[in-house]
Amino acid sequence: MTPELLRASELEAGYGRVQVLWGAGLAVRENESVVLLGTNGAGKTTLLKTLMGLVDAWRGQIRFLGEDITRLRTDRRVRAGLAFMSETGCFPGLSVEENMRIGGQFTPAAELRRRIDALYANFPAIAERRRGLASSLSGGQRKMLGIAKALAGSPRLLVMDEPSAGLSPLFVKEVIQILGRFRGQGLSLLIAEQNVRFLELADRIYTLEGGRIGFAGTIAEMHQNDALQRAYFGLK
Ligand code: ATP
Repeated sequence: MTPELLRASELEAGYGRVQVLWGAGLAVRENESVVLLGTNGAGKTTLLKTLMGLVDAWRGQIRFLGEDITRLRTDRRVRAGLAFMSETGCFPGLSVEENMRIGGQFTPAAELRRRIDALYANFPAIAERRRGLASSLSGGQRKMLGIAKALAGSPRLLVMDEPSAGLSPLFVKEVIQILGRFRGQGLSLLIAEQNVRFLELADRIYTLEGGRIGFAGTIAEMHQNDALQRAYFGLK
């Protein structure tokens, strides 16, 4: 088995007096692709933001590459190799190139240039518009820019919040294809989704229900679970 990248245990967090996470935990290993499934309001965004330090953990622990990062500032987590792609993915008011530079802001200039050029080669539609504003891109292209921006910092683990949000099925397919390509090159992924099509990328799955992890296991194990089949696939 590959080494563990991320392990979160017994996380509790929320907003003001409203508790959203009730002891949630998960782990991602090197070269692993993990999907966090949950319906609207289950707490997926809150869990990812807690992992990134954008929401404070009230209780519990987060370890990344063996280090306790529970109280680390977000920028330190990014430097350590965690990248986060929000539902929006990019800054619409900035140019494509500026977005890429922000994604790789902790990378030395010469290396960042090489990295951005290599990413442009993987995202030709984005490369063509590099001087244009991100707001001039289509929804699907913005999502691609979000992925490229997050990868500009050469993360060890890419954490993504609902990459399918706002996309037509055709673009969802494209996003899955491009993530599959990077996954094939060794990128580790943690993807929060409610779209079960993303399961084709998953080595393992967690379900989040009311701020708690319900199921944890492989796709094969999920398919053997009738309650999950009913809840997420409308089958059985
Ligand atoms: P979605 O798919 O709708 O984004 P989610 O699973 O990501 O759902 P969260 O966004 O984490 O869920 O929301 C979990 C709960 O926390 C919801 O009840 C939501 O209303 C509440 N919540 C989210 N953000 C805030 C906030 N900034 N202040 C107060 N409550 C919030």
